Amino acid sequence: MLILPVVYTGSSEKKTVFARVRKRLKYKAFLLTSRGETATIAPLMQPLIPEFLDFVQKADQGAVIKGVWPLNRMHRFTAMLHTDEGVVEAVLQFGRHGKLRTLSGELSADLAVTCQRCLQPMQYSLQAQLSLALVKDDGQAESLPDMFEPLLLEAEEVNLAEVIEDELLLALPLVLVHEHDCSDFLQQQAQRLKQDAAKAAEQKVINNPFAVLKDLRKE
Ligand SMILES: [Zn+2]
Repeated sequence: MLILPVVYTGSSEKKTVFARVRKRLKYKAFLLTSRGETATIAPLMQPLIPEFLDFVQKADQGAVIKGVWPLNRMHRFTAMLHTDEGVVEAVLQFGRHGKLRTLSGELSADLAVTCQRCLQPMQYSLQAQLSLALVKDDGQAESLPDMFEPLLLEAEEVNLAEVIEDELLLALPLVLVHEHDCSDFLQQQAQRLKQDAAKAAEQKVINNPFAVLKDLRKE
């Protein structure tokens, strides 16, 4: 869990919150909002990845980029989630494979998704491997070795955040359900509805005792 909501009411409490959270998380810097609000604590120790970068230059340098990107800046992806809180962590290696300029790496994110069985939120740890090669056109894309997916270079600068978002969308399973049998939840809910209906019927009898007599007469 990377983001932890806390409530604090004063500066002394703020210190305690800091200390407590510091112990629990591997990150050491946090953001706290103003007094009395529900604060969002975000990992700031890890740098943000650059949103745009010169792919060709980074590949020729063999650059490694490690950082995070907030989920709430990826609306296409968060539309699939239960909440948009949290970050994706990225470890990206730019390089060359013969004449090809490549990007490989790993993405990971702790997500809150919706269970498709009980429709309640559930945690899901998403891991995605990427292996991309820069191409200039469809022809080049078709002749790529199997190990690479094509990344079409449309401008000098590549929108890295968008590339990451695309990879996350591809890696997210279409259907996610709780590992435990959460159909219990549905049964309980059905039970509750039944009880409510029974109670409502009972109430009707109390309100109109003659209805019971009518029923008795019928029998
Ligand atoms: Zn479920």
